[in-house]
Amino acid sequence: MTTLLEDITATAQEGRAIPDAATGEPIGYVATRSIADLDDAVATARAAQPAWAALGHAERSRILHAAADEIDAHAEELAQIIAKEQGKPLNGLGARFEAGGCAAWIRAAADLPLEPEVIFEAEGTRSELHYVPLGVVGAISPWNWPALIAIWQIAPSLRMGNTVVAKPSEYTPLSVMAVAELMNRHLPAGVLTVVPGGREVGAAIAAHPGIDKIMFTGSTRTGREIVKSSAHNLARLTLELGGNDAGIVLPGADVKALGEKLFWGAFINSGQTCAALKRLYVHDSLYEEVVAELARLAEAAPLGPGMDETSALGPLSTRQQFDIVSDLVEDARGRGARIVTGGEAAPELGAHFYRATVVADIDDDAPLVAEEQFGPVLPIVRYTDLDDVIARANASDQALGASVWGDPEQARVIAERIQSGTVWINQHGTINPLVPFGGTKGSGYGLEFGVHGLKAVAGTKVITV
Ligand code: NAD
Repeated sequence: MTTLLEDITATAQEGRAIPDAATGEPIGYVATRSIADLDDAVATARAAQPAWAALGHAERSRILHAAADEIDAHAEELAQIIAKEQGKPLNGLGARFEAGGCAAWIRAAADLPLEPEVIFEAEGTRSELHYVPLGVVGAISPWNWPALIAIWQIAPSLRMGNTVVAKPSEYTPLSVMAVAELMNRHLPAGVLTVVPGGREVGAAIAAHPGIDKIMFTGSTRTGREIVKSSAHNLARLTLELGGNDAGIVLPGADVKALGEKLFWGAFINSGQTCAALKRLYVHDSLYEEVVAELARLAEAAPLGPGMDETSALGPLSTRQQFDIVSDLVEDARGRGARIVTGGEAAPELGAHFYRATVVADIDDDAPLVAEEQFGPVLPIVRYTDLDDVIARANASDQALGASVWGDPEQARVIAERIQSGTVWINQHGTINPLVPFGGTKGSGYGLEFGVHGLKAVAGTKVITV
């Protein structure tokens, strides 16, 4: 019997080495695909789509459940590929959680009812709104939650009768190929194809006349490119882009009770999470207490390779991301911000390890606050006035998530004034396959998850009798 990794990996002669994020050693090899391969994949997906749509919701749902069961049966192998390739620890909200999430999100997409809606009915006339397949979905995904984000794009698309051509990040193709391999043991041929390639393959998907809908998750800059490329064939778009989520800690908040949730809201996957807490505004009355508590938690969280069962935080995924994070911290230090803990690499662990870092006494105009840092660093900013802090939270062009911490009633009133796709109260970044998720402003548009997520990968047709 071959392993899941053996089933997807190419030979060293055929492919490009994919390094372990912790050690730099090759985990496997991927035969990079070209734009000609993409054209073949799109043609195959187009040919397979009518029969897949004709199976109907019940049969597609049955097949998707079989795929989810297959993922559960190989969850540990999948988790280990993710832990090595992307770097997140196996435990906690890590690689095992990601593998389990893949099965959970597939089942949710398979089970959600989506009936035609009767929009008008009177005097012998009836108008119904039906949700129909769009055709071929191009699914372009990032490296931070590689398998789970690909599934968020793939599962609802398949459920709604579309076929899918998926393009993983060039940094994490194995995680996506592994989860697709498990699904393809049950899906009909041609329904789901992975084309591992670079940015040029992503750009070709965005402009491809044979693609009807693009599900894109990645940076805001790439999102803008995709909007331009998709103009000529009017492909439908869902854009899940970058975030710079603000959290606001209200006066009177119970810092000891909320500390762990604040910490993991920011440091999940070493901060390499779209909707992680990326700038924390704390009222003057609690400022030093919050800074000390988060620094204590940062120092207590074991840093190590994803494959080490005791690690709570892993490395940065790539050298490029490591450089972005260390440069932002050095810039903050140069501006006179206080590095309360961390603020340095951990080279004894490997080339991409950076210690969990808490930065205090920093202003909104520091790039560490104003830009998405996407790493294990939390800047904590002081405020005194609630109207002022709401305006500062809203000043960012990014508006994916936000959170308010303290008395739930007071927090709710503030939540209504925050511009953001999601506002959490006394939690941050918690997601649910039944609850819609998506950004506003520069964080993109369109919703994923739940019934809204199914509608986003469907066309509409009105039938009037
Ligand atoms: P990225 O934009 O560099 O790359 C994302 C994907 O787009 C990759 O597969 C890449 O190859 C492809 N790509 C690159 N250029 C392209 C082009 N011109 N046309 C089409 N595709 C192209 O992003 P990344 O560095 O992989 O991911 C990190 C970013 O993703 C962060 O900003 C993060 O906040 C964001 N993100 C958002 C969400 C969300 O749900 N909103 C979730 C996860 C990550």
